[in-house]
Amino acid sequence: MSGSMDGRVALVTGAGSGIGRAAARAFAREGASVVLADACWESGDHAAREICADGGNCFFLPCDVSRAVDVERVVRRTIDSLGRLDYAFNNAGIEGRTAPAAECSEENWDRVLAVNLKGVWLCMREEIPRMLQNGGGAIVNCASVAGLVGFRGIAAYAASKHGVIGLTRTAALEYATRGIRVNAVCPGVIHTPMVDRFTGGDPAREAEVVASEPVGRMGTPGEVAAAVLWLCSDAASFVTGHAMVVDGGFVAQ
Ligand code: NAD
Repeated sequence: MSGSMDGRVALVTGAGSGIGRAAARAFAREGASVVLADACWESGDHAAREICADGGNCFFLPCDVSRAVDVERVVRRTIDSLGRLDYAFNNAGIEGRTAPAAECSEENWDRVLAVNLKGVWLCMREEIPRMLQNGGGAIVNCASVAGLVGFRGIAAYAASKHGVIGLTRTAALEYATRGIRVNAVCPGVIHTPMVDRFTGGDPAREAEVVASEPVGRMGTPGEVAAAVLWLCSDAASFVTGHAMVVDGGFVAQ
C-alpha cells in the first residue's frame, strides 16, 4: 500500500471483472476504503474477498446501475458505513449485441443505453450531493474510444459512450467551482472478459483486434486503472471535463 489515498473512500461500479476490478484493487493499494458494486453477486463478492485478503479495506454491494433504487442504496450504504465519498469510478457497462444500426433491436438499444448511459447519470446523481457534503471529490466515468469515433456494428454502444462524454463534460462545468472534478476514460481494446466475448476466443478475430492497435497488443485492465487513479489524484487537480484516451494510439490513426 502506498497510502496516497489513506482515509479516502472510493466507489467502483462494475468492480467484479476486468477494468473495474483492477481499479478497485488500485484504489485499495493506495489506501482508500473501496466499495465494489456489481450486478453479478458472485464476481463482485469474489473480487472484494481477494482485495481484502491482500490487505485492502473493502466490501461488495450488489447493484444494477440501471436501477435508481439500487444506486441510491449503494451510495447510502457507502456513507452509512464509511462516512464519506471521495472518488467514484462509474465503470459498469455492457457491449450489447452486434448488428448494423438498422438491425439493432429496440430491446438491445434500450438495455445498452440504460446500463452504459443512464447508469452513469444515476450514479452521478447520487454521488455528487454526497461529495459536496465533504467539500468535493473526483468522478471518472468509463467511456470508450467508441465514444469518440464510430464503430461498425455497435450503434447502441457507440451512442451510449458518446453520451457518457457529453454527460461528463456537462457535469464538469456545472460543479467546477464546487470542488468536484468530472473526467472520463476512453479505453481502447483492453483484454477483459468483454473483449473475449467479442472475439469469441477465435484467434483470427483476436489477431484482427490486436492489429487495430498501433502498439500491437491489447491494453491491460491495470493500464486503465492507472489512468483512473491519476485522474482522481491531487496530481490532476486542474483536470476536469477531459476524455482521456488509454488506447495504445487507436484514435491517433
Ligand atoms: P467486463 O465485462 O469484464 O466487466 C464489466 C462488469 O460490469 C462486470 O463485472 C459486470 O457484471 C458488470 N455489470 C454489467 N452490467 C451491470 C449493471 N447493469 N450494473 C452493475 N454492474 C454491471 O468488461 P470491461 O471490459 O471491464 O468493461 C468495463 C467498462 O469499460 C465498460 O463500461 C466498457 O464499456 C468499458 N470499455 C471496455 C473496453 C475493453 O476493451 N474491454 C474498451 C472500452 C471501454
